Amino acid sequence: MPKYSPPENLTPEQSEVLEKAAFLIINARNEAAAMLAQAGVPDDGFGFGTPCHAHIEGSGDCPCRKYTGDGGPCLTRITVDPIATPIPLRSCGHPPSKHFST
Ligand SMILES: [Zn+2]
Ligand SMILES: [Zn+2]
Repeated sequence: MPKYSPPENLTPEQSEVLEKAAFLIINARNEAAAMLAQAGVPDDGFGFGTPCHAHIEGSGDCPCRKYTGDGGPCLTRITVDPIATPIPLRSCGHPPSKHFST
């Protein structure tokens, strides 16, 4: 399956709908994963997980592994530079549409 990539040149209204739709899917995946966990079913890459695919200038792909926002920018804390001490952290800040896995 090709990576999901949001269509370009959307109107602001369309972009908003896109983010809402993305958030719905992410929520559904999280619920499904929780259901499996509760039943003791191993969740071994059953299409779950919502890692961020946004590209960060100068450091490659965003290290965020899971979308944790509420429909807006992602709130997951990510490590910006693992070598530095103290380790600098910031939130991912990418929208739900960037958090689709393949
Ligand atoms: Zn991100
Ligand atoms: Zn994120």
